[in-house]
Amino acid sequence: MRSISHFIHGKSVSFPGARLSDVLDPSTGAVQAQVELATPSQLQKAMDSALSAQPDWAATNPQRRARVMFRFKELIEANLDEMARMLSSEHGKVIADAKGDIQRGLEVVEFACGIPHLLKGDYTEGAGPGIDVYSVRQPLGIVAGITPFNFPAMIPLWMSAMAIACGNAFILKPSERDPSVPVRLAELALEAGLPAGILNVVHGDKEIVDAILDHPDIKAVSFVGSSDIANYVYQRAAANGKRAQCMGGAKNHGIILPDADMDQAVADIVGAAYGSAGERCMALPVVTPVGEATAEIFRTKLIAAIETLRPGIPSDPDAQYGPLVTGQHKARVESYIQMAADEGAEIVVDGRGFQLQGYEDGFYLAPTLIDRVTPQMKSYQDEIFGPVLQILRAETFEEALSYPSKHQYGNGVAIFTRNGDYARKFAAQVEVGMVGINVPIPVPVAYHSFGGWKRSGFGDLDQYGEDGVRFYTRTKKITQRWPTGGAVVDQSFVIPTMK
Ligand code: NAD
Repeated sequence: MRSISHFIHGKSVSFPGARLSDVLDPSTGAVQAQVELATPSQLQKAMDSALSAQPDWAATNPQRRARVMFRFKELIEANLDEMARMLSSEHGKVIADAKGDIQRGLEVVEFACGIPHLLKGDYTEGAGPGIDVYSVRQPLGIVAGITPFNFPAMIPLWMSAMAIACGNAFILKPSERDPSVPVRLAELALEAGLPAGILNVVHGDKEIVDAILDHPDIKAVSFVGSSDIANYVYQRAAANGKRAQCMGGAKNHGIILPDADMDQAVADIVGAAYGSAGERCMALPVVTPVGEATAEIFRTKLIAAIETLRPGIPSDPDAQYGPLVTGQHKARVESYIQMAADEGAEIVVDGRGFQLQGYEDGFYLAPTLIDRVTPQMKSYQDEIFGPVLQILRAETFEEALSYPSKHQYGNGVAIFTRNGDYARKFAAQVEVGMVGINVPIPVPVAYHSFGGWKRSGFGDLDQYGEDGVRFYTRTKKITQRWPTGGAVVDQSFVIPTMK
């Protein structure tokens, strides 16, 4: 059995007698490897390494740090195919989608190549008589990231590229379900010239997450995962005096106005609902057509489109999506389909019971479409995170606007229309962090920032972009005056003011 070890101080590190967790091949259902789960004392080894390496890295000038990021980018590109296969084998997403996962992380590395410019401070000459004021951004020291299973390349890179470029050392605790690509990324960063200890990967579960949250030398924690755990991480990190940004779950809506380009909207919604088996925080698992006529046209076109979809193994170029990540998760998604039926919704297309020939033990689920969903249903209120699309009909624009706005999650939303006035009003008023206008998956590009509202995001700074720089640095404000050789300035017992 292949074992997956930690990556500490530039090398693979195993601890004898460690607890192990199975890493599955979702296509076959078989156990393909075991990953070691660290204890708090093993985390300390990674911390000792990071503490020894970070001061020199912080003192390395930003252009030299940027050159490491440039080489890192080249190495990720050179190894993209190999990493995409590795990623698919543990996650289950199709190869083309796995490449997209890596590419979206790579784009944050590209952004981090501009770190000298991003770290420039502010300077005011002559803020008072002979007084100048300036502010600089300094790294925090040691920071940590805890990442989910569904983007094992993109999300570790969202965090680590920004943290490292800013001069921090980064401890990455990836998902224990697909831990190989994060380790490979750390190896490539080392090859790119990153000093040993600046990017350590420590595997584990709740035990190691708690150890990270309680460690006095970890100054900030970035988390992406489900909302209850995001909230827990946020509270415990904050209680320990750490900076925390914690992204949670989602239930994104696609609003269809009567004037939408229906064929394009159907194509977009189907891709966004079923791509990656629906295991995306920016999936579109709810569609809200406005008006009965729109709903009927849309439903008919949707059923026809769904009939052409085919889940398959990741290397099958004709498959639109692969298996779910584990059997346990598949069972959970199926239980939500049953819940929707029990709640009185109409199961229009039922994906349960699907078996892929030759891969009968894989965690496949065919596309499911559920109509006549209401806001009172638990199957609507919860995140399902599978290839399940629900239709929640609305009579008016205002009603459609209210659904994503009132939902407990506020990650992403999309509106499909040709009417700029409605689109503009929607974007201005909807209570959701990321909005697409005729764009089904509005994940902001690397030089903007990513983050949802309500239970989709705890903390006030988003991932990557300029928020990433702010999150991984703190500002120091310096007020200076140099002796002029003149008379002594009057002693004052009054707070200095700029009269
Ligand atoms: P998860 O919450 O189960 O796990 C996320 C991380 O937390 C993992 O590293 C895991 O080891 C750790 N963890 C698990 N249980 C824990 C516990 N009890 N205490 C402390 N740590 C624990 O999430 P997942 O299933 O890996 O990922 C899917 C979820 O992530 C979905 O809800 C999805 O919407 C969300 N997600 C959100 C975003 C976003 O940016 N908002 C992006 C991707 C995924």
